[in-house]
Amino acid sequence: MIPVNEFSLVGNEAKYLKECVDSGWISSEGPFVRRFEEEFASFVGVKYGIAVCNGTAALETALFALGIKAGDEVIMPSFTIISCAIACIRLGAKPVLVDIEPDNCTIDVNQIEGRITPKTKAIMPVHIYGHPVDMDKVFELAEKYKLKIIADFAEAQGAQYYSNKKRKWMQCGAMSDVSATSFYANKIITTGEGGMVVTDNPEYAGKSRAYRNLCFGIDERFSHDELGYNFRMTNLQAAIGVARLEQVDKFIKIKRKLAEHYKTRLAEIKQIRFLTEKSYAKSVYWVYAIELKPEFGVDAKELMVRLRKYGVETRPFFKGMHTQPVFVKSGLFRGEKYPNTDFAYKYGLYLPSGLALTENQIDKVVEALREALK
Ligand SMILES: *Cc1c(COP(=O)(O)O)cnc(C)c1O
Repeated sequence: MIPVNEFSLVGNEAKYLKECVDSGWISSEGPFVRRFEEEFASFVGVKYGIAVCNGTAALETALFALGIKAGDEVIMPSFTIISCAIACIRLGAKPVLVDIEPDNCTIDVNQIEGRITPKTKAIMPVHIYGHPVDMDKVFELAEKYKLKIIADFAEAQGAQYYSNKKRKWMQCGAMSDVSATSFYANKIITTGEGGMVVTDNPEYAGKSRAYRNLCFGIDERFSHDELGYNFRMTNLQAAIGVARLEQVDKFIKIKRKLAEHYKTRLAEIKQIRFLTEKSYAKSVYWVYAIELKPEFGVDAKELMVRLRKYGVETRPFFKGMHTQPVFVKSGLFRGEKYPNTDFAYKYGLYLPSGLALTENQIDKVVEALREALK
């Protein structure tokens, strides 16, 4: 079986973990946490990093830092992980959905303005599958309507966007008031489980630090003004993070090189297409995502079953937020339609994408695709 995500821990991971064990620092108080925060923030190109226990917690912490509360609305894509909606709902706010662009599955920025109401407080662009959102329109709307931008770059660590408005290349994670990322095992940088909030704003950084640590008092430790969480990251996780971050340039090179190989080989198969890299983007190809052309009568579910028989593991695309059983039950998005999201869900899947993947394995995946679509 060619697994969907395989990688090896061949850098300083074991060495740094041993340092934790030898020194006895295994909790969040250990020195790797600060170091990882500083080094990751510097990699992204922002001032502050606040490490937390996972990406979902990072999103909620970031929204809290912005002051999002009951009655507020946050605009986000219908095609994303449920974490984005959960983070919002936990704070009592309402997720407001926007459909995606058909060729790269990122939020359709031209549909955002139509969803802005007097309750809208923030826009949450989600950089999808390694590819950045077309941010210039988001910058413009945030300015015009005085909205905050909170980006989810869990899938786009290291990806870049060329802003015509600002006339420069910008890093995903450095284009918003506050951004959140995940270090789950399949992300470009992993700590096993983990996440981080990044920002240039000292107030948001302070609020994030408070929220992840029970909002302990500053003058009097056990005096709490607000309800926080224990979202802390351990020194063990941060040690892995520091070691992975040392290798990030290599990881991105590997991802881009394998994408080129997939792209070339897949061009021979008429029933499918590779998601497009826009001219404004330097994607990190977090996963190798394809869509089936509907005219050939095979959908993603069917293809996934067939590929499994050829020893190729795949993953489906996101299921639209408007179709999630939990939200259908509560009537949250009743009557709303997002056809591009529905299409991506039905016809999209991603192929083996791990850092340990070889060109030879890609050739086998492409061969399996050819056979499975015969
Ligand atoms: C992985 C992911 C998350 C959630 O991260 P966890 O660490 O699993 O909580 C959030 N947003 C996106 C876009 C993701 O891909």
